[in-house]
Amino acid sequence: MQEFDYDLFVLGAGSGGVRACRIAASLGAKVGVAEERYFGGTCVNVGCVPKKLFSYAAHFRDDFEDSKGFGWSYSDIGFDWSTLKTNKDKEVSRLNSIYKLILDDNNVDVFEARATIEGPHEIRVKGKLVTAKFILIAVGGWPWTPEFPGSDVAVSSNELFELKKLPRSLVVLGGGYIAVEFASIFSRLGCETTLVCRGDKLLRGFDEEIRDFITAAIGHGVVLKLNTEIVEINPRNSGVNVLLNEGSEIVADLVLSATGRRPMTSNLGLEKVAVELNKSGSIQVDEHYRTAEPSIYAVGDVIDRIALTPVALAEGQTVARHLFSNHPEAMGYQNIPTAVFCHPNLGTVGLSEEQAIQKGLGIEVYSSAVKQLKHSLTGRNEMCMIKLIVEKSSDRVIGLHMVGPDAGELVQGFAVAMNCGATKSDFDRTIGIHPTLAEEFVTMRSLRARPVL
Ligand code: NDP
Repeated sequence: MQEFDYDLFVLGAGSGGVRACRIAASLGAKVGVAEERYFGGTCVNVGCVPKKLFSYAAHFRDDFEDSKGFGWSYSDIGFDWSTLKTNKDKEVSRLNSIYKLILDDNNVDVFEARATIEGPHEIRVKGKLVTAKFILIAVGGWPWTPEFPGSDVAVSSNELFELKKLPRSLVVLGGGYIAVEFASIFSRLGCETTLVCRGDKLLRGFDEEIRDFITAAIGHGVVLKLNTEIVEINPRNSGVNVLLNEGSEIVADLVLSATGRRPMTSNLGLEKVAVELNKSGSIQVDEHYRTAEPSIYAVGDVIDRIALTPVALAEGQTVARHLFSNHPEAMGYQNIPTAVFCHPNLGTVGLSEEQAIQKGLGIEVYSSAVKQLKHSLTGRNEMCMIKLIVEKSSDRVIGLHMVGPDAGELVQGFAVAMNCGATKSDFDRTIGIHPTLAEEFVTMRSLRARPVL
């Protein structure tokens, strides 16, 4: 029988890779991992974690303003970008160490270097050829920007985390997660922000009614240019001139391109093995995350199924159990909750109204816009929205959507209920917690009067 240096060798120590290493090692496998950049991957270093810290910072602006209606008064409130950045950097490097510690504590051999695939069981790392029974590709994705004159002047979210100075003005290109989150954050931090989106509303793929609501809500604080594209960026003095397809020009300090991310499959040595790519450049895998090369697996953003940290974690864990445990589990992709940390937050789980209809399901829709009690004293004209999609035949809640403060915190719990098969009657017989926004979910009695579609 062929002997290998490792049972599993993982390329990439991000969310999916580290989870796979830890679980495989705990199941007795000899594991190696190569990481060329930073431990913890996108999420910890240039994604979820630092973004959420920035989002907290941004929320204080509204909180300070809202506090006046409750009797607070203050003078001399200022915001210091360098304090936020320094503290963010400290937290990120603390988390880097924790990720490294997880690997060390599990006796995983860590190579702080780029690794490439040389064959179905061979990896080159630090000039050495190592062998592994199984290889897991968990190298993630990288921001992608379309090409147009001056597009190289635009920065990606990666660079935004490293800015030495808060820009006075920012143009954001895109209408997805990163665009709406960063437009919300930077506008609240005091940066004049314009969001340029090629579509007629933000967040394609989400429930249409929720998209309408968010598109209207983002406009409070952000200049929104819908059905618009950037055709050229020209550097000027310390900033940029941004030319739009409708002929107008914006002068700004900086342009953020948030036009999607691409799997990092180039120069990995994939041509030396049978691994196949999808049209998008992501790695093709089967239900066990196995590529067309039987000894090579792939998880996370590089397979481009659902590019979310908790999904990559679950996939990494599933692969490790599949390979090294007697009780492998399949991973389900239903009811994966997600939140967009724009202002206000958006949380969602299950099907959108359109997806449910497309699946041919008979549905009932409950939706309402409500004002938080808090705003009766703040004077802020901010509404929240909640929406339930119920399958008529089973009474099951198959879609739950919310726009409002801490939407992610609320939706997580409802995702559990939905995974347990909660019905609308279960919601109805649940006692609310008063006065909260969450209680609205258990007190929705009237069907939406007018269908949106
Ligand atoms: P998204 O895919 O979410 O959005 C990309 C946006 O860019 C879309 O609005 C798209 O428009 C637009 N776009 C694409 N190509 C062009 C172009 N050539 N010109 C103009 N606009 C263009 O990508 P993001 O970069 O925002 O985020 C990447 C992924 O990271 C997300 O999908 C998500 O999975 C993950 N993420 C998750 C977060 C969270 O959980 N809170 C936060 C941030 C990221 P159109 O819709 O018309 O195609």
